[in-house]
Amino acid sequence: LPLVKAPSSLSLSSQAKMSRPVQARRLEGVDKNIWVEFVTLAATYSTVNLGQGFPDFPPPDFLKEAFARSLSGEKHMLHQYTRAFGHPPLVKILAQLFGKLLGRDLDPMTNVMVTVGAYQALFCCFQAFVDEGDEVIIIEPFFDCYEPMVKMAGGTPVFVPLRPKAPKDGKMMSSADWQLDPAELASKFSKRTKAIVLNSPNNPLGKVFSRGELELIADLCVKHDALCISDEVYEWLVYDGKEHIRIASLRGMWDRTVIIGSAGKTFSATGWKVGWTVGPNRLLQHVRTVHQNSVYHCATAAQEAVAQCFQKEFERYGKPDSYFVQLPKELQQKRDQLVQSLVAVGMKPIIPEGTYFLVADISEFKSDVPDVPNSDEPYDSRFAKWMVKNKGLAAIPLSAFYCGAHKNNYNCFIRFCFAKEEATLKAADDILQKWKLEKTSL
Ligand code: PMP
Repeated sequence: LPLVKAPSSLSLSSQAKMSRPVQARRLEGVDKNIWVEFVTLAATYSTVNLGQGFPDFPPPDFLKEAFARSLSGEKHMLHQYTRAFGHPPLVKILAQLFGKLLGRDLDPMTNVMVTVGAYQALFCCFQAFVDEGDEVIIIEPFFDCYEPMVKMAGGTPVFVPLRPKAPKDGKMMSSADWQLDPAELASKFSKRTKAIVLNSPNNPLGKVFSRGELELIADLCVKHDALCISDEVYEWLVYDGKEHIRIASLRGMWDRTVIIGSAGKTFSATGWKVGWTVGPNRLLQHVRTVHQNSVYHCATAAQEAVAQCFQKEFERYGKPDSYFVQLPKELQQKRDQLVQSLVAVGMKPIIPEGTYFLVADISEFKSDVPDVPNSDEPYDSRFAKWMVKNKGLAAIPLSAFYCGAHKNNYNCFIRFCFAKEEATLKAADDILQKWKLEKTSL
Protein backbone atom coordinates (compact mmCIF):
# COMPACT_ATOMS: atom_id res chain seq x y z
CA LEU A 1 0.00 0.00 0.00
CA PRO A 2 1.34 3.46 -0.78
CA LEU A 3 2.23 5.41 2.30
CA VAL A 4 -0.09 8.34 2.80
CA LYS A 5 1.65 11.12 4.61
CA ALA A 6 -0.47 12.59 7.36
CA PRO A 7 -0.72 16.38 7.15
CA SER A 8 1.32 18.00 9.89
CA SER A 9 -0.62 19.58 12.72
CA LEU A 10 0.99 22.87 11.71
CA SER A 11 -0.53 22.87 8.24
CA LEU A 12 -3.87 21.75 9.68
CA SER A 13 -3.99 24.58 12.15
CA SER A 14 -2.90 27.14 9.59
CA GLN A 15 -5.64 25.93 7.25
CA ALA A 16 -8.19 26.12 10.07
CA LYS A 17 -7.12 29.58 11.20
CA MET A 18 -9.65 32.24 10.30
CA SER A 19 -8.37 35.30 8.54
CA ARG A 20 -11.59 37.35 8.79
CA PRO A 21 -12.11 39.52 11.88
CA VAL A 22 -13.98 37.56 14.53
CA GLN A 23 -14.99 40.44 16.76
CA ALA A 24 -18.27 42.19 16.07
CA ARG A 25 -17.82 45.93 15.47
CA ARG A 26 -20.04 46.76 18.43
CA LEU A 27 -17.36 45.38 20.77
CA GLU A 28 -14.69 47.81 19.62
CA GLY A 29 -13.39 49.91 22.49
CA VAL A 30 -15.57 48.31 25.16
CA ASP A 31 -13.36 45.36 26.08
CA LYS A 32 -11.62 46.91 29.11
CA ASN A 33 -13.21 46.63 32.53
CA ILE A 34 -11.55 48.13 35.58
CA TRP A 35 -13.13 45.64 37.97
CA VAL A 36 -11.17 42.79 36.45
CA GLU A 37 -7.89 44.62 37.11
CA PHE A 38 -8.68 45.87 40.61
CA VAL A 39 -10.37 42.68 41.82
CA THR A 40 -7.26 40.75 40.69
CA LEU A 41 -4.97 43.22 42.48
CA ALA A 42 -6.96 42.96 45.72
CA ALA A 43 -6.81 39.17 45.51
CA THR A 44 -3.08 39.07 44.68
CA TYR A 45 -1.96 41.13 47.65
CA SER A 46 -3.21 40.27 51.09
CA THR A 47 -5.56 43.17 51.61
CA VAL A 48 -8.46 44.61 53.48
CA ASN A 49 -10.79 45.00 50.55
CA LEU A 50 -12.93 48.13 50.62
CA GLY A 51 -12.88 48.23 46.82
CA GLN A 52 -15.68 46.34 45.12
CA GLY A 53 -19.20 47.18 46.25
CA PHE A 54 -20.76 44.34 48.17
CA PRO A 55 -21.49 43.68 51.85
CA ASP A 56 -19.23 41.18 53.60
CA PHE A 57 -21.77 40.81 56.44
CA PRO A 58 -24.50 38.18 56.14
CA PRO A 59 -27.86 39.05 54.62
CA PRO A 60 -30.79 39.07 57.08
CA ASP A 61 -32.00 35.70 58.37
CA PHE A 62 -35.48 36.16 56.90
CA LEU A 63 -33.88 36.35 53.45
CA LYS A 64 -31.85 33.16 53.85
CA GLU A 65 -34.82 31.35 55.35
CA ALA A 66 -37.02 32.40 52.43
CA PHE A 67 -34.52 30.97 49.93
CA ALA A 68 -34.16 27.75 51.93
CA ARG A 69 -37.97 27.42 52.00
CA SER A 70 -38.32 27.98 48.28
CA LEU A 71 -35.71 25.28 47.58
CA SER A 72 -36.79 22.63 50.05
CA GLY A 73 -40.52 23.21 50.38
CA GLU A 74 -43.42 21.34 48.81
CA LYS A 75 -43.65 23.61 45.79
CA HIS A 76 -41.35 21.61 43.51
CA MET A 77 -42.39 23.69 40.51
CA LEU A 78 -40.12 26.40 41.93
CA HIS A 79 -37.29 24.39 40.40
CA GLN A 80 -38.77 24.88 36.92
CA TYR A 81 -39.19 27.76 34.51
CA THR A 82 -41.60 30.46 35.52
CA ARG A 83 -43.23 33.36 33.66
CA ALA A 84 -40.59 34.99 31.42
CA PHE A 85 -41.21 38.57 32.54
CA GLY A 86 -41.27 37.81 36.23
CA HIS A 87 -42.48 35.16 38.66
CA PRO A 88 -46.13 36.12 39.40
CA PRO A 89 -45.77 36.51 43.22
CA LEU A 90 -42.77 38.81 42.72
CA VAL A 91 -44.27 41.10 40.07
CA LYS A 92 -47.46 41.30 42.15
CA ILE A 93 -45.75 42.47 45.33
CA LEU A 94 -43.43 44.82 43.41
CA ALA A 95 -46.49 46.39 41.74
CA GLN A 96 -48.13 46.78 45.14
CA LEU A 97 -45.07 48.34 46.79
CA PHE A 98 -44.07 50.66 43.93
CA GLY A 99 -47.72 51.53 43.37
CA LYS A 100 -47.82 52.77 46.95
CA LEU A 101 -44.49 54.62 46.65
CA LEU A 102 -45.44 56.30 43.37
CA GLY A 103 -49.08 56.90 44.25
CA ARG A 104 -50.49 55.14 41.19
CA ASP A 105 -52.11 51.81 40.32
CA LEU A 106 -49.59 49.48 38.75
CA ASP A 107 -50.41 46.39 36.73
CA PRO A 108 -48.03 43.60 37.77
CA MET A 109 -48.06 42.07 34.30
CA THR A 110 -47.32 45.18 32.25
CA ASN A 111 -45.74 47.75 34.58
CA VAL A 112 -43.12 45.48 36.17
CA MET A 113 -40.50 43.16 34.69
CA VAL A 114 -37.98 41.04 36.60
CA THR A 115 -34.38 40.87 35.35
CA VAL A 116 -31.10 39.16 36.20
CA GLY A 117 -29.95 41.93 38.51
CA ALA A 118 -30.17 45.63 37.76
CA TYR A 119 -27.31 45.08 35.34
CA GLN A 120 -29.52 43.17 32.92
CA ALA A 121 -32.30 45.71 33.37
CA LEU A 122 -29.88 48.43 32.22
CA PHE A 123 -28.77 46.34 29.25
CA CYS A 124 -32.37 45.67 28.19
CA CYS A 125 -33.21 49.39 28.40
CA PHE A 126 -30.30 50.52 26.23
CA GLN A 127 -31.02 47.79 23.68
CA ALA A 128 -34.71 48.62 23.68
CA PHE A 129 -34.49 52.40 23.27
CA VAL A 130 -31.16 53.40 21.71
CA ASP A 131 -30.63 53.43 17.95
CA GLU A 132 -27.58 54.24 15.82
CA GLY A 133 -27.02 57.98 16.06
CA ASP A 134 -28.99 58.46 19.27
CA GLU A 135 -27.33 60.33 22.10
CA VAL A 136 -27.63 59.31 25.74
CA ILE A 137 -26.68 61.79 28.47
CA ILE A 138 -24.67 60.29 31.33
CA ILE A 139 -23.96 62.25 34.50
CA GLU A 140 -20.38 61.89 35.75
CA PRO A 141 -19.11 60.20 37.86
CA PHE A 142 -21.18 57.21 36.69
CA PHE A 143 -21.49 53.47 37.29
CA ASP A 144 -19.03 52.36 34.65
CA CYS A 145 -21.19 49.97 32.58
CA TYR A 146 -23.48 52.73 31.23
CA GLU A 147 -20.91 53.87 28.68
CA PRO A 148 -20.15 50.49 27.01
CA MET A 149 -23.83 49.53 27.11
CA VAL A 150 -24.84 52.70 25.24
CA LYS A 151 -22.06 52.12 22.72
CA MET A 152 -23.01 48.45 22.18
CA ALA A 153 -26.52 49.61 21.35
CA GLY A 154 -25.03 51.92 18.67
CA GLY A 155 -25.60 55.12 20.63
CA THR A 156 -23.27 57.96 21.54
CA PRO A 157 -22.78 58.75 25.23
CA VAL A 158 -22.71 62.46 26.05
CA PHE A 159 -21.13 63.21 29.42
CA VAL A 160 -21.93 65.98 31.85
CA PRO A 161 -20.01 66.17 35.14
CA LEU A 162 -21.24 66.98 38.62
CA ARG A 163 -19.09 69.94 39.64
CA PRO A 164 -17.71 70.09 43.20
CA LYS A 165 -18.04 73.33 45.16
CA ALA A 166 -15.76 73.80 48.16
CA PRO A 167 -17.83 73.87 51.36
CA LYS A 168 -17.75 77.04 53.43
CA ASP A 169 -16.28 77.43 56.95
CA GLY A 170 -13.80 74.57 56.61
CA LYS A 171 -16.60 72.00 56.87
CA MET A 172 -16.14 68.53 55.44
CA MET A 173 -17.36 68.23 51.88
CA SER A 174 -20.67 66.43 51.32
CA SER A 175 -21.85 64.61 48.21
CA ALA A 176 -24.48 67.38 48.05
CA ASP A 177 -21.65 69.80 47.20
CA TRP A 178 -21.30 68.05 43.83
CA GLN A 179 -23.90 69.61 41.56
CA LEU A 180 -24.92 69.87 37.94
CA ASP A 181 -24.43 73.23 36.26
CA PRO A 182 -27.95 73.88 34.91
CA ALA A 183 -26.72 75.71 31.78
CA GLU A 184 -24.16 73.01 31.05
CA LEU A 185 -26.76 70.26 31.45
CA ALA A 186 -29.22 72.10 29.19
CA SER A 187 -26.51 72.50 26.54
CA LYS A 188 -26.15 68.70 26.28
CA PHE A 189 -29.79 68.17 25.25
CA SER A 190 -30.69 68.33 21.54
CA LYS A 191 -33.01 66.58 19.14
CA ARG A 192 -30.50 63.71 19.04
CA THR A 193 -30.98 63.07 22.79
CA LYS A 194 -32.92 59.85 23.28
CA ALA A 195 -32.42 59.44 27.00
CA ILE A 196 -30.64 60.52 30.15
CA VAL A 197 -29.36 58.05 32.72
CA LEU A 198 -30.02 59.18 36.27
CA ASN A 199 -28.49 57.33 39.22
CA SER A 200 -29.78 58.60 42.55
CA PRO A 201 -28.46 57.74 45.11
CA ASN A 202 -25.33 57.87 42.98
CA ASN A 203 -22.54 55.34 42.81
CA PRO A 204 -19.70 56.33 43.44
CA LEU A 205 -20.32 59.69 45.21
CA GLY A 206 -23.33 58.75 47.32
CA LYS A 207 -25.13 61.86 46.11
CA VAL A 208 -28.90 61.90 46.65
CA PHE A 209 -30.37 64.25 44.06
CA SER A 210 -32.58 66.96 45.57
CA ARG A 211 -36.10 67.73 44.36
CA GLY A 212 -34.80 70.89 42.64
CA GLU A 213 -32.11 68.95 40.77
CA LEU A 214 -34.61 66.28 39.72
CA GLU A 215 -37.04 68.96 38.50
CA LEU A 216 -34.28 70.48 36.39
CA ILE A 217 -33.65 67.09 34.74
CA ALA A 218 -37.37 66.38 34.40
CA ASP A 219 -38.09 69.73 32.70
CA LEU A 220 -35.33 69.10 30.16
CA CYS A 221 -36.62 65.56 29.49
CA VAL A 222 -40.12 66.89 28.86
CA LYS A 223 -38.89 69.82 26.73
CA HIS A 224 -36.74 67.54 24.52
CA ASP A 225 -39.06 64.53 24.60
CA ALA A 226 -36.30 62.38 26.10
CA LEU A 227 -36.55 59.23 28.20
CA CYS A 228 -35.11 58.80 31.69
CA ILE A 229 -33.45 55.55 32.67
CA SER A 230 -33.51 55.89 36.44
CA ASP A 231 -31.10 53.56 38.21
CA GLU A 232 -32.37 53.53 41.81
CA VAL A 233 -30.62 50.43 43.13
CA TYR A 234 -29.57 52.25 46.34
CA GLU A 235 -33.08 53.63 46.97
CA TRP A 236 -33.21 52.42 50.60
CA LEU A 237 -29.70 53.49 51.53
CA VAL A 238 -30.11 57.16 52.44
CA TYR A 239 -28.77 58.83 55.58
CA ASP A 240 -29.22 61.78 57.91
CA GLY A 241 -32.98 61.89 57.33
CA LYS A 242 -32.55 62.55 53.58
CA GLU A 243 -35.41 61.53 51.30
CA HIS A 244 -35.03 59.49 48.14
CA ILE A 245 -37.31 61.13 45.57
CA ARG A 246 -38.38 59.07 42.56
CA ILE A 247 -38.13 61.14 39.38
CA ALA A 248 -41.03 59.12 37.93
CA SER A 249 -43.28 60.81 40.52
CA LEU A 250 -42.58 64.29 39.08
CA ARG A 251 -44.95 65.93 36.62
CA GLY A 252 -44.68 64.53 33.09
CA MET A 253 -42.14 61.89 34.05
CA TRP A 254 -44.04 58.62 34.63
CA ASP A 255 -44.66 58.23 30.93
CA ARG A 256 -41.00 58.59 30.00
CA THR A 257 -39.17 56.89 32.88
CA VAL A 258 -38.03 53.33 33.54
CA ILE A 259 -37.13 52.73 37.18
CA ILE A 260 -34.46 50.11 37.80
CA GLY A 261 -34.01 48.31 41.13
CA SER A 262 -32.00 45.48 42.67
CA ALA A 263 -32.80 42.90 45.33
CA GLY A 264 -29.03 42.47 45.71
CA LYS A 265 -28.70 46.01 47.09
CA THR A 266 -32.09 46.03 48.82
CA PHE A 267 -31.47 42.87 50.86
CA SER A 268 -27.64 42.80 51.03
CA ALA A 269 -27.36 39.74 48.77
CA THR A 270 -25.65 40.90 45.59
CA GLY A 271 -25.01 37.32 44.45
CA TRP A 272 -28.71 36.60 44.00
CA LYS A 273 -28.88 38.77 40.89
CA VAL A 274 -32.57 39.58 41.02
CA GLY A 275 -33.46 43.00 39.65
CA TRP A 276 -36.46 44.71 38.08
CA THR A 277 -37.80 47.47 35.91
CA VAL A 278 -40.92 49.47 36.72
CA GLY A 279 -42.53 51.78 34.19
CA PRO A 280 -45.36 52.44 31.74
CA ASN A 281 -46.29 49.60 29.40
CA ARG A 282 -45.52 51.76 26.35
CA LEU A 283 -41.84 51.56 27.42
CA LEU A 284 -41.72 48.19 29.18
CA GLN A 285 -43.20 46.33 26.19
CA HIS A 286 -39.92 46.98 24.34
CA VAL A 287 -37.79 46.09 27.35
CA ARG A 288 -39.71 42.78 27.44
CA THR A 289 -38.84 42.16 23.78
CA VAL A 290 -35.10 42.38 24.52
CA HIS A 291 -35.48 40.25 27.64
CA GLN A 292 -37.43 37.48 25.91
CA ASN A 293 -34.88 37.34 23.11
CA SER A 294 -31.85 37.20 25.35
CA VAL A 295 -32.09 35.97 28.93
CA TYR A 296 -35.75 34.94 28.97
CA HIS A 297 -36.01 34.73 32.74
CA CYS A 298 -34.31 34.88 36.08
CA ALA A 299 -33.95 31.94 38.54
CA THR A 300 -37.40 30.98 39.85
CA ALA A 301 -36.43 30.04 43.42
CA ALA A 302 -34.56 33.32 43.93
CA GLN A 303 -37.59 35.27 42.64
CA GLU A 304 -39.90 33.38 44.99
CA ALA A 305 -37.65 34.16 47.98
CA VAL A 306 -37.39 37.85 47.04
CA ALA A 307 -41.19 37.97 46.67
CA GLN A 308 -41.63 36.62 50.21
CA CYS A 309 -39.17 39.16 51.60
CA PHE A 310 -40.91 42.07 49.88
CA GLN A 311 -44.22 40.79 51.23
CA LYS A 312 -42.75 40.93 54.74
CA GLU A 313 -41.32 44.41 54.15
CA PHE A 314 -44.60 45.63 52.71
CA GLU A 315 -46.41 44.57 55.88
CA ARG A 316 -43.93 46.33 58.18
CA TYR A 317 -43.26 49.31 55.91
CA GLY A 318 -41.94 52.32 57.87
CA LYS A 319 -41.94 50.39 61.17
CA PRO A 320 -38.76 50.24 63.26
CA ASP A 321 -38.23 46.50 62.60
CA SER A 322 -38.33 46.99 58.81
CA TYR A 323 -35.06 46.03 57.10
CA PHE A 324 -35.42 49.23 55.05
CA VAL A 325 -35.19 51.15 58.35
CA GLN A 326 -32.60 48.94 60.07
CA LEU A 327 -30.07 48.66 57.25
CA PRO A 328 -29.50 52.40 56.61
CA LYS A 329 -29.23 52.95 60.37
CA GLU A 330 -26.42 50.39 60.61
CA LEU A 331 -24.72 51.62 57.47
CA GLN A 332 -24.77 55.23 58.62
CA GLN A 333 -22.74 54.18 61.68
CA LYS A 334 -20.28 52.33 59.47
CA ARG A 335 -20.01 55.38 57.23
CA ASP A 336 -19.17 57.60 60.22
CA GLN A 337 -16.63 55.09 61.50
CA LEU A 338 -14.82 55.01 58.15
CA VAL A 339 -14.89 58.81 57.95
CA GLN A 340 -13.03 58.96 61.30
CA SER A 341 -10.43 56.42 60.17
CA LEU A 342 -9.74 58.24 56.90
CA VAL A 343 -9.51 61.67 58.49
CA ALA A 344 -6.88 60.30 60.90
CA VAL A 345 -4.46 59.54 58.07
CA GLY A 346 -5.06 62.83 56.26
CA MET A 347 -7.60 61.86 53.60
CA LYS A 348 -10.55 64.21 53.10
CA PRO A 349 -13.78 62.20 52.92
CA ILE A 350 -16.77 63.50 50.98
CA ILE A 351 -19.66 62.58 53.28
CA PRO A 352 -22.12 60.51 51.23
CA GLU A 353 -25.85 61.18 51.66
CA GLY A 354 -26.64 57.69 50.39
CA THR A 355 -25.34 54.33 49.01
CA TYR A 356 -22.62 52.34 50.74
CA PHE A 357 -19.77 54.17 49.06
CA LEU A 358 -17.56 56.95 50.27
CA VAL A 359 -15.18 58.98 48.10
CA ALA A 360 -12.10 60.55 49.69
CA ASP A 361 -9.71 63.24 48.46
CA ILE A 362 -6.11 61.98 48.34
CA SER A 363 -4.36 65.09 47.00
CA GLU A 364 -2.25 65.27 50.18
CA PHE A 365 -0.43 62.07 49.25
CA LYS A 366 1.18 63.14 45.98
CA SER A 367 4.68 62.90 47.43
CA ASP A 368 4.14 59.20 48.32
CA VAL A 369 3.26 58.29 44.75
CA PRO A 370 5.67 60.06 42.44
CA ASP A 371 4.75 61.07 38.90
CA VAL A 372 5.59 58.56 36.20
CA PRO A 373 7.02 60.33 33.16
CA ASN A 374 5.00 59.88 29.94
CA SER A 375 2.24 57.94 31.71
CA ASP A 376 -1.33 58.95 31.06
CA GLU A 377 -2.55 56.77 33.94
CA PRO A 378 -4.41 59.08 36.32
CA TYR A 379 -2.83 59.78 39.73
CA ASP A 380 -5.72 58.17 41.65
CA SER A 381 -5.29 54.92 39.73
CA ARG A 382 -1.55 54.84 40.49
CA PHE A 383 -2.34 55.73 44.11
CA ALA A 384 -4.90 52.94 44.49
CA LYS A 385 -2.40 50.39 43.14
CA TRP A 386 0.34 51.75 45.41
CA MET A 387 -2.01 51.56 48.43
CA VAL A 388 -2.92 47.91 47.72
CA LYS A 389 0.71 46.90 47.35
CA ASN A 390 2.25 48.98 50.13
CA LYS A 391 -0.52 49.34 52.70
CA GLY A 392 -2.70 46.30 52.03
CA LEU A 393 -5.85 48.38 51.60
CA ALA A 394 -7.96 48.18 48.43
CA ALA A 395 -10.10 51.02 47.03
CA ILE A 396 -11.17 52.07 43.53
CA PRO A 397 -9.91 55.21 41.74
CA LEU A 398 -12.67 57.73 41.04
CA SER A 399 -11.30 58.39 37.53
CA ALA A 400 -12.66 54.92 36.62
CA PHE A 401 -16.13 56.49 36.83
CA TYR A 402 -15.37 59.11 34.15
CA CYS A 403 -15.15 58.94 30.38
CA GLY A 404 -11.66 58.84 28.83
CA ALA A 405 -11.61 62.57 28.05
CA HIS A 406 -12.52 63.61 31.60
CA LYS A 407 -10.52 61.08 33.66
CA ASN A 408 -7.66 63.42 34.37
CA ASN A 409 -9.97 66.25 35.55
CA TYR A 410 -11.05 64.21 38.58
CA ASN A 411 -7.99 62.19 39.44
CA CYS A 412 -7.32 62.83 43.10
CA PHE A 413 -10.09 60.77 44.72
CA ILE A 414 -10.62 57.11 45.62
CA ARG A 415 -13.83 55.23 46.44
CA PHE A 416 -14.29 52.99 49.46
CA CYS A 417 -17.19 50.63 50.19
CA PHE A 418 -18.26 50.69 53.85
CA ALA A 419 -20.86 47.88 53.74
CA LYS A 420 -18.43 45.79 55.75
CA GLU A 421 -18.37 43.82 58.98
CA GLU A 422 -17.08 45.46 62.13
CA ALA A 423 -13.91 43.32 61.89
CA THR A 424 -13.16 44.49 58.34
CA LEU A 425 -13.62 48.15 59.24
CA LYS A 426 -11.44 47.63 62.31
CA ALA A 427 -8.72 46.02 60.16
CA ALA A 428 -8.90 49.01 57.79
CA ASP A 429 -8.65 51.36 60.76
CA ASP A 430 -5.56 49.50 62.04
CA ILE A 431 -3.88 49.99 58.66
CA LEU A 432 -4.76 53.68 58.59
CA GLN A 433 -3.61 54.26 62.19
CA LYS A 434 -0.28 52.55 61.49
CA TRP A 435 0.08 54.62 58.34
CA LYS A 436 -0.58 57.78 60.34
CA LEU A 437 2.18 56.85 62.84
CA GLU A 438 4.62 56.21 59.99
CA LYS A 439 3.76 59.62 58.55
CA THR A 440 4.23 61.47 61.82
CA SER A 441 7.53 59.71 62.58
CA LEU A 442 9.03 60.81 59.22
N1 PMP B 1 -26.48 50.11 39.14
C1 PMP B 1 -25.60 50.58 40.03
C2 PMP B 1 -25.50 52.06 40.25
C3 PMP B 1 -24.78 49.70 40.74
O1 PMP B 1 -23.89 50.18 41.62
C4 PMP B 1 -24.91 48.31 40.51
C5 PMP B 1 -24.05 47.29 41.25
N2 PMP B 1 -22.82 47.71 41.66
C6 PMP B 1 -25.85 47.87 39.58
C7 PMP B 1 -26.62 48.80 38.91
C8 PMP B 1 -26.03 46.41 39.28
O2 PMP B 1 -26.85 45.80 40.21
P1 PMP B 1 -27.09 44.21 40.27
O3 PMP B 1 -26.04 43.64 41.14
O4 PMP B 1 -28.48 44.05 40.82
O5 PMP B 1 -27.00 43.72 38.87
